Amino acid sequence: MKSFTITTLGCKVNQYESEAISEQLQCQEWDAINKGVVADLCVVNTCTVTGKAAMQSRQAVRKLIRNHPGALVVVTGCYAQVSPEVFSSMPGVHCVAGNSFKDRIPQLITCEGNHGPQNTLVEDLSAPRPFQDLPVTRFGSRSRPFLKIQDGCDAFCAYCIVPYARGRSRSLRPEIVMKRIRGLKEQGYAEVVLCGINLGRYGHDLTPAVSLGKLMKLIDGPQCVKRLRLSSIEPTELQEDVISHLAGSKRICAHLHVPLQSGDDEVLKNMNRHYSSSFYRELVHHIVSVVPDVAIGVDVLVGFPGETEGAFEKTCTLVEQIPIAYLHVFPFSKQKGTSAETRGDSLPPETIKKRCQYIRTLGATKRRRFYEKFIGSTLEVLIEGKRDRTTGCLKGLTRNYIPVLLKGNDDLMHRVIHARLTRIEHGRVFGECLSR
Ligand code: SF4
Repeated sequence: MKSFTITTLGCKVNQYESEAISEQLQCQEWDAINKGVVADLCVVNTCTVTGKAAMQSRQAVRKLIRNHPGALVVVTGCYAQVSPEVFSSMPGVHCVAGNSFKDRIPQLITCEGNHGPQNTLVEDLSAPRPFQDLPVTRFGSRSRPFLKIQDGCDAFCAYCIVPYARGRSRSLRPEIVMKRIRGLKEQGYAEVVLCGINLGRYGHDLTPAVSLGKLMKLIDGPQCVKRLRLSSIEPTELQEDVISHLAGSKRICAHLHVPLQSGDDEVLKNMNRHYSSSFYRELVHHIVSVVPDVAIGVDVLVGFPGETEGAFEKTCTLVEQIPIAYLHVFPFSKQKGTSAETRGDSLPPETIKKRCQYIRTLGATKRRRFYEKFIGSTLEVLIEGKRDRTTGCLKGLTRNYIPVLLKGNDDLMHRVIHARLTRIEHGRVFGECLSR
């Protein structure tokens, strides 16, 4: 049997697709390698959402070439899609395969000439195209598998390359979503994370059109796993039917990730994001009024060209004032091919770095305050399949996205238990297991 390894960078959708590639390879008699073994095939599923992700993708390819001498090297993913020349000019890379070729990796590497001239297979994804269904039935030791139900984006935010890397928004049909969730339930998974590139656009391309809220109603029944979690939803796409369903459902987790990016209306306009800071503020207050225990996660993009000190302060003030649980902070970096690339009012890197540090500290305070609200409460926790390395405790996650460390036996792994949250130490929440 020949062996392979896959390195994945970037979002949940990329991670899901790597699982699909791995499953395809295993069906074709390829074997995943153990650590320290030299593989016959290395696949790198790249990301280009930020300059850092792109740099890490290049580093990952070089590292695999170094550590697996003689292996076939295939580079795929968003960075390979938008800048294939970066990898096709790299000695040691045998095949560059755009995102639309992810369903054919085993076939590509059995083609003749793999060790001959480098092969670049990249299609233009700008025209509407069907959803590329990449089924995954096994998720290894992961306790919360992802299910990709939507791909692509039509929004063209000024800083974002994703619509070029993934094409137009398209969706997996609801009956297939339901079938996949049933399959995961039968395998014993307690939670599934529904993911997409612009999840709130789910179903708009289907005939008849289906909304994300309608899909949730369809899947939220006895055939569904115990817990369903939604990944990131854009503020303008977060419809009332999703919020009200989340409030009334026992299965949908009280957790929403809603990117803000900036709290300044001028910056939002320049980013080509079609909402105002007051719209965002009202949306967050509305969600919390309907779902009081909800964890709301927020993305902030710091240092977009033209972001003044005053504009950054407005973002900080908004973040301070709204009842959110955590922040993800991204420093702006120019992406080739986006409309922000040609803006002349870039900020010095040290200004961006300083602002990122400031708002990250604010994010840590918000997170702690959110955790403190639940100390003393008894919450449902899904226990993961691995222990925490530093404490040796079991690791679990509440419905509202609080990671909890607990003492207990391995037989609690992958189970949903009840735990009382007892204390916060070094920013980490500890609890005691109340289930036997
Ligand atoms: S909504 Fe904007 S930021 Fe999100 S993927 Fe689409 S273009 Fe990128």
